[in-house]
Amino acid sequence: MTDCIFCKIVDKQIPASVVYEDDEMLCFKDINPAAPVHLLLIPKEHFDSLAHAKPEHEALLGRMMMKVPQIAEANGLANGFKTQINTGKGGGQEVFHLHIHIMGRPA
Ligand code: 5GP
Ligand code: ZN
Repeated sequence: MTDCIFCKIVDKQIPASVVYEDDEMLCFKDINPAAPVHLLLIPKEHFDSLAHAKPEHEALLGRMMMKVPQIAEANGLANGFKTQINTGKGGGQEVFHLHIHIMGRPA
């Protein structure tokens, strides 16, 4: 997936401000933040969108969702945050590598 900007971030071909990384997911700051804290959590494995997730991604998606509050708290959002997953052109998705937006204002 050499044309995918987020795969390039995973492969360190282009820089990003990474706030969390493990074997299967990466979280980094959105380059054009829509909130004081705006992070993107992605699987390292490329799939285009939530609509492209396969049954074998179910546990990974669950682990990503469970990681969101931990990442949010570590980035000043212990008081609360918004999550958003844009899916498909009709859903406002612009980068076709699944990602979870984590947004909020530190208390
Ligand atoms: P979408 O509309 O696809 O849900 O959101 C894509 C998000 O990726 C946007 O908020 C946009 O600012 C962010 N973005 C696009 N290109 C880059 C990039 O090269 N680096 C980073 N850190 N964020 C990006
Ligand atoms: Zn990708």
